[in-house]
Amino acid sequence: MSIKDIITVPSEVLKKISEPIEKISINEKKLIKDLFDTMYDSNGIGLAAVQVGILKRVLVVDVSSKSEKKKPLSFINPVIKSVSDETSIYEEGCLSIPDTFIEIERPKICEIEYINLNGKKEVLKCDGLLSTCIQHEINHLDGKLIIDDLSKLKRDLIIKKISKIKKNPSRIVV
Ligand code: ZN
Repeated sequence: MSIKDIITVPSEVLKKISEPIEKISINEKKLIKDLFDTMYDSNGIGLAAVQVGILKRVLVVDVSSKSEKKKPLSFINPVIKSVSDETSIYEEGCLSIPDTFIEIERPKICEIEYINLNGKKEVLKCDGLLSTCIQHEINHLDGKLIIDDLSKLKRDLIIKKISKIKKNPSRIVV
């Protein structure tokens, strides 16, 4: 098991565009395993490679509820092929923007094309939470964050708050 450090705002890395994967080798398989370990450890439902500092178009998700069996899904070079006109709104958080939740409206259904771990092209129609989660993660691969559409003032406030949390030493009672 290998848990990676998750990069948080205001790191410039999160704004970079990730590169497609040409060939799936043992390194990519290890990366996907590390992403799952890191995501589950942080209680997230999705994680993109860029969030652990690796600029490759890879993401993992698991939107199963706590009482259900785990449903790990991994996507290599995912591309959104079509979206529905109907939208849904979720209050979204992000492992790279701790303690922040923003209402985001996205297409309710999306169809994505991607490469699976065996190098085969697959198509998946996603609805509801899975659709929102995958769109959020694909945004990461393009350097886009949920705070990007906020006003600069609001965005700066969030980043200031997060930087402050990070600077605070852990409090202990002995
Ligand atoms: Zn995120």
